[in-house]
Amino acid sequence: MGKTLGRLRRLPEVGCFFPKTTREAVSLLKKYNGKAKVFAGGTDLLPKMKRRELVPKYLISLSGITDLKFIKYEKEKGLRIGAGTTLNEILESSLVQKRYPILVETISQMASTQVRNVGTISGNLCNAVPSADTAPTLIVLGARLKLVGPKKQRMVLVEDFFKGPDRTVLDRTELVSEIQIPPTLSGARGTYLKHTLRREMDLALVGVASYFIPNSKKEICKEIKIALGAVAPVPMRAKKAEAVLMGKPLTNELIEQAAQIASEEAKPIDDIRGSAEYRKEMVRVLTQRTLQQSLKKG
Ligand SMILES: Cc1cc2nc3c(=O)[nH]c(=O)nc-3n(C[C@H](O)[C@H](O)[C@H](O)COP(=O)(O)OP(=O)(O)OC[C@H]3O[C@@H](n4cnc5c(N)ncnc54)[C@H](O)[C@@H]3O)c2cc1C
Repeated sequence: MGKTLGRLRRLPEVGCFFPKTTREAVSLLKKYNGKAKVFAGGTDLLPKMKRRELVPKYLISLSGITDLKFIKYEKEKGLRIGAGTTLNEILESSLVQKRYPILVETISQMASTQVRNVGTISGNLCNAVPSADTAPTLIVLGARLKLVGPKKQRMVLVEDFFKGPDRTVLDRTELVSEIQIPPTLSGARGTYLKHTLRREMDLALVGVASYFIPNSKKEICKEIKIALGAVAPVPMRAKKAEAVLMGKPLTNELIEQAAQIASEEAKPIDDIRGSAEYRKEMVRVLTQRTLQQSLKKG
């Protein structure tokens, strides 16, 4: 009866480690090679375990690792966010509010206060669902992840991090230790919008982030990035739409043209939450809106 009654069951019995350092966490991942899972806020992992979609033998909690809890800004590297920092800590950071308002705008559209109090950006990315809200925004910001393994560490662009639903480039002995976002440039601005079926606490049916830097006279678009979520197996750039806008003034006509091209670039599927056709149309609408809203932020 337990099996058919509801899909959420009690958590299975599982061993839990509470390392104090990243190095210790990584050596546990190595020791239990594939049998242990990193546990940050648990807001994605625990429901999956309760549904028995995933039953690791061990959990490795990041909660006691103080060297993963930080938000710093450095002139060269830009913003650095430790993997143990919660979504709400980022949302409330005056540093992030001042320099990366698009990130604040994105996180404020996610989940609830309770979920954001424990959930992390690294968990949002490592969970690797196409609808992860932080992914399009981090892609347009040019963010990179620091992956730490037992022998080496490497930097990977968020854009190159995803391999498919539930799959990333992380190997089983690696964890994400921090997120780095390049320094903000003068005049840069962006917007993230998501379309959901419910007004609150829902995953994106479509998410669009756009970000651009005008030239010094604010006449043309010197740099532009558009990223789409929930419309392909992985969060993706709309590069053809970007090419339409690059080096040109952002007129209404051009924005409409780019939005149409972005919708053609999207590769959504039909599912119970929405048809592919509807998702494509929402990409068009949201791309247009994000660009227009960003223009007004100037
Ligand atoms: C009610 C509710 C509402 C939600 N609303 C939204 C929403 O609006 N938008 C949205 O995008 N998501 C939403 N989520 C999903 C979830 O809250 C977020 O994805 C959150 O950011 C996950 O972070 P976490 O720290 O809890 O991850 P966890 O559950 O701890 O981990 C998720 C996965 O990432 C791995 N992982 C975590 N940290 C690391 C690391 N540092 N290195 C390597 N692997 C790691 C874990 O092993 C696990 O596989 C919602 C969830 C709930 C329960």
